[in-house]
Amino acid sequence: MTTTRANGVRWGAALAVATLLVGTPGVAAADGRGKPCTAGAAGVGDPYFPTYGNGGYDVGSYDLDITYDPATDRLDGEASIRAKATETLCSFHLDLIGLDVSRVEVDHQDATWTRDGQELIVTPRRPLPDGHRFTVDVVYGGVPVTFEIPGFGQPAGFMTTPDGAIVAGQPEVATAWFPVNDHPIDKASYTFDVTVPDGDEVVANGELRRVRSQDGWTTWRWEAREPMASYLATIDIGAWDVRSWETDAGLAVYDAVDSAITGGLRAEIDSSLARQDEVIAVLSAAFGPYPFSTAGGIVDNHDDLFFALETQTRSVYSKYFWLDQQGNPTNGDFVVAHEMAHQWFGDDVALARWQDIWLNEGFATYAEWLWAEYEGQATPDESFQATYDAFPADDPFWTVTIGDPGVTDLFSNPVYFRGAMTLHALREAVGDDAFWAIIREWAAANSGGNVTTEQFIALAEEVSGQQLDDLFTTWLFTPARPDLAGAAAAADGAATTEARVAADSAAGWLAGAQARLDRGRY
Ligand SMILES: [Zn+2]
Repeated sequence: MTTTRANGVRWGAALAVATLLVGTPGVAAADGRGKPCTAGAAGVGDPYFPTYGNGGYDVGSYDLDITYDPATDRLDGEASIRAKATETLCSFHLDLIGLDVSRVEVDHQDATWTRDGQELIVTPRRPLPDGHRFTVDVVYGGVPVTFEIPGFGQPAGFMTTPDGAIVAGQPEVATAWFPVNDHPIDKASYTFDVTVPDGDEVVANGELRRVRSQDGWTTWRWEAREPMASYLATIDIGAWDVRSWETDAGLAVYDAVDSAITGGLRAEIDSSLARQDEVIAVLSAAFGPYPFSTAGGIVDNHDDLFFALETQTRSVYSKYFWLDQQGNPTNGDFVVAHEMAHQWFGDDVALARWQDIWLNEGFATYAEWLWAEYEGQATPDESFQATYDAFPADDPFWTVTIGDPGVTDLFSNPVYFRGAMTLHALREAVGDDAFWAIIREWAAANSGGNVTTEQFIALAEEVSGQQLDDLFTTWLFTPARPDLAGAAAAADGAATTEARVAADSAAGWLAGAQARLDRGRY
């Protein structure tokens, strides 16, 4: 739950840049014991999003008491945040966009606050000593704003729907509905008490603890105890058909599909969600044990939701992943395999800075290759080769720097495909045994924590005993198509019928993945 430096995340150059970006907090006053106190920084220092998150404290838990009225779209909240100061603070920031604050207390005493863009700057009555555990209570409310996915312009965030609301976005969503230290580096546990009119239903991360009705309103308590990045928190309000079940391995699954989704589309969605058991089995065999106490999916009948997101333990899906370009129901198993893979890579093992997004999307795309292999469609070798062959050397596909793509290319197709190709190039270089040892150790050693690309390279070198700088420089940090020693041989091999059929199947995966990404990020 507490994070960053204590967890051994190496920020390296990123932190040095970040310190320059956010400035050095000034010495502003003295605490009760005569030590100087500082103003907590306005960001954690992510080079891509300097104002995301805040400095000077680590959050342990959020208790969010939220009332939402679909008739007015109004949200009223009381957030109770438990945190620990990591420096002696005269003041500190939370992130909150578009909602009005009416009261702030620190350790149950009124505090003063100011607003500056997304920053909610809180000044407690007395400075908070370094190491002090404190509680911040914020009373707030209003009509939540909606964001856009960088580079795509599609709506994200707190989205109102015909029968309620759905909450998902990346990299930004949490600030639209609660005051937060909004960066994945500060994971925390969450309790959601969501109150809606009787008849509406609420789904969220984690486990449903209780449902209580009073005076025409019903409060749904969900608990997500396992450390979670703020953008992975979701509450989803509507009329749901719930399926609560267990996998063969005994994992609790809770699926919620909008009751308004029926017919052939509904059949495809139900079929994919029923295969989560199989997906988890295939991915567990590759990555190690499923990292959380529960799983599931949420599919809303919202026309303006175009993407899927790996909201922790319970991914949110656009219904469009189960509709082809003509609007006919189609198989959507790959998107479920992809989001499930993110439970390991993205959620349990989360980013320490957004530029390393390939550690999420490259791994989840590689999981699609594993699923394609399980389905008998194509081997990872074939998926790799088909992807390589599909993009000539002068294609813009090769101009993105995967290990540092920039904000507008954060979720671009090359990050997904070339991220997966990087992993396959590693597999080819170190062999299957070392490769799977690296992947499993990556998941196990970083469970609940945050990671960087440099850490992955270091682990790959440590486990394999090989010097891999050239490989990662070529695949992650060079905006050009790598030379492939085996490319000519593979092209020759495609002359055989068997190889041609295999290449067609892998090309089928690629075409499907591109069609999915055309619909929305996932
Ligand atoms: Zn993804």
